[in-house]
Amino acid sequence: MTTTDERPAGDPATTNVDERQARQVAESARETSWRKPSFGKELFLGRLRLDLIDPWPTPDPEAAARGAEFLAKLRAYAEAEIDGGQIERDARIPDEVLRGLGELGAFGMKIEQEYGGLGLSNLDYCRALTLVGSASPAIGALLSAHQSIGVPQPLKLLGTPEQKKRYLPRLAAGEVSAFLLTEPDVGSDPARLSSTATPVQGGYWLDGVKLWATNGTLATLLVVMARVPASEGHKGGITAFIVEADSPGVTVERRNAFLGLRGLENSLTRFHQVFVPTENVIGREGQGLKIALTTLNTGRLSLAASCVGAGKWCLSVARQWAAERVQWGVPIGRHEAVAKRLAFIAATTYAMESMLDLSCLLADDNRNDIRIEAGLIKLFASEKAWLMADDLVQIRGGRGFETAESLRARGEKGIAAEQILRDLRINRIFEGSTEVMQLMVAREAVDAHLSVAGDIIDPEAAFSRKARAGARAGLFYGRWLPTLAVGKGQLPGGYGDFGALAPHVRYIERAARKLSRETFYAMARWRGKMERKQGFLFRVVDIGAELYAMAASCVRARTEGDPAGLELADLFCRQARVRVEALFTALWQNTDTLDVRAARRVLEGRYESVEEGILPLDEPGEWVAKWQAGQSTVEDVRRRF
Ligand SMILES: Cc1cc2nc3c(=O)[nH]c(=O)nc-3n(C[C@H](O)[C@H](O)[C@H](O)COP(=O)(O)OP(=O)(O)OC[C@H]3O[C@@H](n4cnc5c(N)ncnc54)[C@H](O)[C@@H]3O)c2cc1C
Repeated sequence: MTTTDERPAGDPATTNVDERQARQVAESARETSWRKPSFGKELFLGRLRLDLIDPWPTPDPEAAARGAEFLAKLRAYAEAEIDGGQIERDARIPDEVLRGLGELGAFGMKIEQEYGGLGLSNLDYCRALTLVGSASPAIGALLSAHQSIGVPQPLKLLGTPEQKKRYLPRLAAGEVSAFLLTEPDVGSDPARLSSTATPVQGGYWLDGVKLWATNGTLATLLVVMARVPASEGHKGGITAFIVEADSPGVTVERRNAFLGLRGLENSLTRFHQVFVPTENVIGREGQGLKIALTTLNTGRLSLAASCVGAGKWCLSVARQWAAERVQWGVPIGRHEAVAKRLAFIAATTYAMESMLDLSCLLADDNRNDIRIEAGLIKLFASEKAWLMADDLVQIRGGRGFETAESLRARGEKGIAAEQILRDLRINRIFEGSTEVMQLMVAREAVDAHLSVAGDIIDPEAAFSRKARAGARAGLFYGRWLPTLAVGKGQLPGGYGDFGALAPHVRYIERAARKLSRETFYAMARWRGKMERKQGFLFRVVDIGAELYAMAASCVRARTEGDPAGLELADLFCRQARVRVEALFTALWQNTDTLDVRAARRVLEGRYESVEEGILPLDEPGEWVAKWQAGQSTVEDVRRRF
């Protein structure tokens, strides 16, 4: 224990992290056990376990009624009170809107009723975010960061009864919370985390600088990740703390501004010897990253909810505009190139919503482990929503590039297509970038192989461990490989109860087995080097995402029986199959090795001459700002409402 005043600017031991250590930290934060069945895990093992998602789970009627009542109120409030254009113009969500949402209970949607919240299901929570995000994406992001990654979610999962009693009622009543993991030098790689929590009498001194905390300028309660040094009586490690934002030593140094989400209240926050009592540790010391990852499982669903909302909005604009706008003698929606974009937006939005609803329902009925599905939908929804918004901008032509205000000033509808593109872009980066999602899902996809054969390919494993692993692998593969050869997808009448969609379900079954076979061949070929084959692995994950989207669409369409839904599910599956086939081909026919070699040469400056002809970069400052421990030297810019 120490009470010293002086602290180094980041701990050199943590800022010099090599690749292996980074992997170890990520690996140790991984939930290794599978206590519940997982559709996604089975899919990557080549098994289409439709029984896990079919019949389509039904929500609890009492919870559904409560959700419907709240959604109606939220819709009325959003229509009457939220002016998305004004939020965009002012880069600020008005105080009265924040208070109004608080009174409505929107800050407690996911908090249990016994703590003053609404206790909504994941499904209704996501529907609320889709709805409110269509009025203002910045409000969607605020509510989602508050509840999906802020204090309510980790407390729900791991909080003590005292912590829940103390904090949840405040949050349900409208206090805002934020989640602070990122630092200037810590993005995708938490092993570099350098904020420290030094044990002192009755608690910890918290020191560090946290970057890009959504809601950080508004929040009164924070979840902060900091590293506890190991010492006597302290296991140490990255730990999650609940911190009162107005504690002495907390300074909100900046509000950051971005490409999109202009209304976002996002901070750079400094902690200087902030006292945090022991009872504010969430879980145990060293559990911080595990908590962050578990929190994000359902957190990722809310990000997809905003993408679903974006898809619906793009479809609505594209449908009306492409019917109205006439060029070359016909409405532009009749030209094949535009028609293809319309068809993509319609089918993909249907699939995305199917995936989201299914993942929420699976999370709500608590029978399945949805960590893979949550990763797949975050990845799929953020990537596809971006493509849809880009298509919308193209369909709108010059008007797609013009701001809503400028359009309105000319007497046209203020359709903010350029804004949705800007607002959506961050979804591919935060809460686990696309690459991090692909890494995470890929790790789970090859987990079965690593758990039986990992020691064979581990260069550091002793001979005896390799031999034992060899025997284990022989048993596993002896039983598993034959199951990949044949399946129901090959039977002409297989999955006949899906009617016109049956060929697609058969395709999913065949593709899942093929995917698993390809993964096995790749493991056998590359062994320990497999983890570096991101081109290959990420395509495997992308195929998995398409197959999950197809399965969700087919089961939903058949369950609902709506002819329009059946058509869209069929269309989506046909489009997805074209993409899946291209991905399968690219597994083995690609320029991955060449690209890696070329990239190394780019980094070495070999191709610098290509940059000639433009002004040189002479931007002053660091690429990554260094932070110094100590008191803040700037004015606190937090906002109170
Ligand atoms: C608007 C906004 C809001 C945010 N809100 C929050 C918040 O509320 N709380 C919070 O803690 N953080 C927040 N963040 C931070 C966000 O989560 C990070 O930006 C994100 O984790 C990526 O980290 P980074 O930007 O440092 O990128 P880096 O980690 O530096 O990554 C740069 C690029 O390299 C890729 N990359 C990195 N590692 C690998 C790898 N092993 N394999 C392949 N590719 C790799 C990344 O995918 C990315 O494309 C926010 C950021 C923004 C911009």
